[in-house]
Amino acid sequence: MRQTYDIAIVGCGPAGLAAAILLHGDGHQVTLFERFDQPQPLGSGLMLQPSGMAVLDRMGLSNEIAARGARIDALFGLDEHGRTALDAPYSKLGSGEAFGIGIHRASLFAVLYARAIAAGIFIRTGSEIHNSVLEGRRRHIIARDGTRAGPFDLVVDASGWASRIEFGEQRGLLPFGALWAAIPVEPSDPHAKNFLEQRYRRASQMIGILPIGSRGPGLPDEVALFWSLKRDEYSQWRSSPLAVWKSQVRTLWPEADFLLDRISCHDDLTFARYAHRSSHRPYRERLVRIGDAWHSASPQLGQGANMALLDAWGLAAGLREGRTLTEGLRLSASWRRDHVALYQAVTAAFTPLFQSSDDLWPWIRDRIVAPLSRFGPVARIQAQLMSGLFGFPLPMLGLEVPDYSAIAASMAARASSLDQS
Ligand SMILES: Cc1cc2nc3c(=O)[nH]c(=O)nc-3n(C[C@H](O)[C@H](O)[C@H](O)COP(=O)(O)OP(=O)(O)OC[C@H]3O[C@@H](n4cnc5c(N)ncnc54)[C@H](O)[C@@H]3O)c2cc1C
Repeated sequence: MRQTYDIAIVGCGPAGLAAAILLHGDGHQVTLFERFDQPQPLGSGLMLQPSGMAVLDRMGLSNEIAARGARIDALFGLDEHGRTALDAPYSKLGSGEAFGIGIHRASLFAVLYARAIAAGIFIRTGSEIHNSVLEGRRRHIIARDGTRAGPFDLVVDASGWASRIEFGEQRGLLPFGALWAAIPVEPSDPHAKNFLEQRYRRASQMIGILPIGSRGPGLPDEVALFWSLKRDEYSQWRSSPLAVWKSQVRTLWPEADFLLDRISCHDDLTFARYAHRSSHRPYRERLVRIGDAWHSASPQLGQGANMALLDAWGLAAGLREGRTLTEGLRLSASWRRDHVALYQAVTAAFTPLFQSSDDLWPWIRDRIVAPLSRFGPVARIQAQLMSGLFGFPLPMLGLEVPDYSAIAASMAARASSLDQS
């Protein structure tokens, strides 16, 4: 008989929701704790990679994701002189027909949240958890106002990069973040429908447009627009007229003008800060970290939510396989550790190519990395990196790249039903 546990999960992001669904499905008693009174996703768009889709597919959610997302066939970027600085098609993966999916964060959240509610998972909202304490052989969690809940056999910290549980105030904030907005678009608008497109001025300015599908039937398609901004320049940006920023955007990418007319005030854009931090050992007695609470990085490679889904899958699989709780945690960490370390290192190396004040990094990007990445084996490694598949994370978790022809068919069906309506 498999052992089951009484588990508290802190955080209703992709990591926490996916872990709750999977652990509940394995017969564990699960309670989710979320700081917001009404669970809600912050931010606009993200990319689901074949790695994350492998998990969502096994959860039976890939069709719902496909119905809301936008197919992304390549990442493409030009510098201020019109030189190609990034050209990364998924077709270079060389196997199957995998692609990326641009999706509104709210859509991913809605799909996971609906599944958690349908499964009857108990969610305690308005609970901001600041710490946990081990008492005997079980762990309590402690909210900001000092109230305690528990005891639990296991506490899963899925509270994101700003987690305070056992970390205190270690944030690892990066100098650059980004302004983000989700903007409705028409089929006749001139943006690339199946690319994440970017423009760069050296590496100090970057604008990107990512198609993110539609948040639901009857709602318009949207794109996520993002603009690099230094954390310490945000208050200056807010106090300058919006027209100053719009003119910078127009100068760098005149074709993005049609989107600027749909942004009317500073509040239409949200500033996201990025942090880079990770811990080598994500678990200790009756406590485990998954998702950004374990490892967070700048989103240059578009992996964070996908890694969070893999962590959640790995945790559930580890608890299934381990004869004891500690062995289950050790197993799940061992399956994920190398992939996490690899992507933390690659993201740290790549981020300055696209976000830095230095002139050397963009020079390396445009003169060395971009030309090299056109060659067969390098193009393939680049495609594997962006797909989340570099380092072979799936086989050891018993996962495989899902059938993308089925996913493509359901996305094409949605597109044609929209064309007809
Ligand atoms: C601008 C931007 C763009 C990104 N683009 C991509 C992309 O293209 N692809 C990709 O894969 N990833 C992307 N990411 C990264 C991705 O969003 C994160 O890696 C992912 O959301 C991590 O999921 P998580 O569940 O670990 O944490 P989160 O999504 O941060 O969720 C944490 C949850 O915990 C709750 N919480 C926080 N503190 C507490 C507390 N003290 N008590 C209780 N609840 C708490 C929060 O309210 C939230 O619900 C991007 C991130 C940013 C900022």
